[in-house]
Amino acid sequence: MTFKELNIIEPILDALRDEGYEKPSPIQEQSIPILLKGKDLLGCAQTGTGKTAAFAIPILQQLYQNRQRNQGGRKIKALIVTPTRELAIQIDDSFTKYGKNTGLRNTVVFGGVKQGSQTNELRKGIDILVATPGRLLDLIGQGLITLKHIEFLVLDEADHMLDMGFIHDIKRIMALLPRKRQSLFFSATMPPDIVKLSGQILGHPEKVTINPEKPTAEKVEQSLYYVVKKAKSKLLIHLLQEQNYYSVLVFSRTKHGADKIVKLLNRANIKAEAIHGNKSQSARQRALKNFKEGQTHVLVATDIAARGIDVSGLALVVNYDLPAVSETYVHRIGRTGRASASGISISFCQPDERAFLKDIQKLISKKIDVVTDHPFVDEIDDSPEKQTRPPRQNRNKKKSGGSVNRNSSSKQGNRDSRKSNDNKRSEGASRSKGNVGNRRSSAAKKY
Ligand code: AMP
Repeated sequence: MTFKELNIIEPILDALRDEGYEKPSPIQEQSIPILLKGKDLLGCAQTGTGKTAAFAIPILQQLYQNRQRNQGGRKIKALIVTPTRELAIQIDDSFTKYGKNTGLRNTVVFGGVKQGSQTNELRKGIDILVATPGRLLDLIGQGLITLKHIEFLVLDEADHMLDMGFIHDIKRIMALLPRKRQSLFFSATMPPDIVKLSGQILGHPEKVTINPEKPTAEKVEQSLYYVVKKAKSKLLIHLLQEQNYYSVLVFSRTKHGADKIVKLLNRANIKAEAIHGNKSQSARQRALKNFKEGQTHVLVATDIAARGIDVSGLALVVNYDLPAVSETYVHRIGRTGRASASGISISFCQPDERAFLKDIQKLISKKIDVVTDHPFVDEIDDSPEKQTRPPRQNRNKKKSGGSVNRNSSSKQGNRDSRKSNDNKRSEGASRSKGNVGNRRSSAAKKY
């Protein structure tokens, strides 16, 4: 099956070719025909299956085919509601890529940041809006967004949405939508409350279920370093200098972060290059070539950019930032030691990433070994009865007395980011003395 056989129009086919997509993933193959017929969809699938393209492509195609209706000025006709800012940004990026030849405009709004640049984009006129619930309602309340013209609604990661307490926000949003619309509802799991919610949102949906990929994380030697954000670069430099790994892929959450890491590594005489969406295609290819040929030993990438990278036999994968989506962790570490079927991964965890860590450990059904004997250790009291971090001045190597409640001060930020949910979640990661960082595997070659 090809995208062409799914009746995808040429401007979108072109964009998919540029992305290097050769054939539709199972969820795309199943969902696109349903959605192009205008039917509602209940999708049981998670991130990593290609579900963004499964809904973005048919929405773009239908909006493109009806573009004459835009003549009275652009109105928001498609709304994608998703629980976290990271997912919202990823989805918006996907619309930008798949829709680059359609002339349609998309943007993203999420909380925890000032709204100025977001409202500027909205004022320019937008066809497709990706939003987290709290900021969306805020902007509707301020009269900056209207949902009166919505033709397509996507509720993404519905189970996460309910876990994060967004149910009332969702209901308020639903009440503002036109009744006549095409609705898509995605959830990785389908417990009874999700089934009930989907019944309230969808008409007579077609159902598509994609079973999650089995984690292959068991084969990879994984270790974890608790470290505060500002010490991460020093720890990375320390580990790279100590171990002399030959080919290392470092994952950064943001493009800006990736550039910063490269700068710091280069300053420490470690040859590194970044590869991310802000780099031109030729700069990316050059960086990749240098890495493959061993001229640079460290490639710093964002998840999106790394998906297109085909490098085998990586000595080490470093999660400089933990991913918000657990499956991404499994994808990332699966890139190490592919040939020898065993590899090494190192993850840094700063205090506000502990919720991500908890989700990752749940997915891989194990606690990752914690390395404590490194110079930048962030001592965290994780005895079950104390789930908070002691104040800095009281922190010492072993244990400390006082504790600080790290509740977020920003309600909006808290609602819109799984990161800030961290403080609500309990955390009991075991702390082993296993010093994976000092063990050298056969997969790790010298410079
Ligand atoms: P998603 O589940 O939407 O987050 O997608 C996971 C990743 O798969 C994204 O990086 C997409 O760029 C990539 N992807 C989606 N569809 C395809 C496809 N048909 N071929 C290759 N990669 C794809």
